[in-house]
Amino acid sequence: MEKHIEQIRDEAFRELNATSDPERIKELSVRYLGRKGAITQFLRNISGLPPEERPEAGRRANEVKKELDAAVKSALETAESGAPAAEDRIDVSLPGRTPPRGHLHPLTRITREICDIFTRLGFDVAEGPEVESDYYNFEALNIPKNHPARDMQDTFYISDNIVLRTQTSPMQIRVMEKSAPPVRIIAPGKVYRCDSDLTHTPMFHQVEGLLVDEKVSFGDLKGILTTFVHQIFDPETSLRFRPSFFPFTEPSAEVDILCVMCRGKGCRVCSHTGWLEVLGSGMVHPAVFENVGYDTGRYTGFAFGMGVERIAMLKYGIDDIRKYFENDFRFLRQF
Ligand SMILES: [Zn+2]
Repeated sequence: MEKHIEQIRDEAFRELNATSDPERIKELSVRYLGRKGAITQFLRNISGLPPEERPEAGRRANEVKKELDAAVKSALETAESGAPAAEDRIDVSLPGRTPPRGHLHPLTRITREICDIFTRLGFDVAEGPEVESDYYNFEALNIPKNHPARDMQDTFYISDNIVLRTQTSPMQIRVMEKSAPPVRIIAPGKVYRCDSDLTHTPMFHQVEGLLVDEKVSFGDLKGILTTFVHQIFDPETSLRFRPSFFPFTEPSAEVDILCVMCRGKGCRVCSHTGWLEVLGSGMVHPAVFENVGYDTGRYTGFAFGMGVERIAMLKYGIDDIRKYFENDFRFLRQF
């Protein structure tokens, strides 16, 4: 019979030690110490024992009762004092949580890279308005109203004389109006055209460049742009200057690089020509100099412009320009 009270004691303590929930502790207290509890029942049944066993069994049962009562009170106190339950305790040995770190958008990075290359070559960075007058965006750049060259650019008109700039070239005029030669600037920024497909978005980024001084030749243009292409892509990149037309330069040339995908063999990306267009350039048209009052007999210069998205697409091998603006982290995190 004495074994019985020891069994009750063991069970009671095992259950009590396994919990820190106050409700559960109270429930255990009722189950063992309550009016119908296991220990109370045991004491009540002592009269059924042989007379010689009764005193020892009663003494031991009362001892266990006291002991369990004290343990229940102490457990309740701990549980209700707000001490955290085992599952809520902080495990200081776990590694810390690193907050997510952002980084620059790939287009910001490429723009900065382009600007860095040209500032090392002695160019200053000039920025200007995105809402531009028709005069700066077109007329001063030798594109008169109703001139067919305006068809090359699908313009957003705010009013007859105000447009969202279609190119960063207006900065050429703004800078030359304010300063005498020599001029050496690049103008990065947003431009807008009413166009949207795999390789066009209504807003995109350009970097425009302008160099004006005495005795500036087409050789200087080739030298600067070759240096740039070799630095932004690869020093081994082959490039070619292909005759083209822009209203504000004469002669004009587009700069192509050997296709980065097929190395000139011809593929879908380069439309099987083996070459990819990366820049427009040319010698500044005398009509532009006349508009800002520069002496066309004394000064010559060259200008160039490039699309930042296009440079980034070629550098990173991306085939859909819209990915830059969808803000999909799975895409952006790769850079
Ligand atoms: Zn190719």
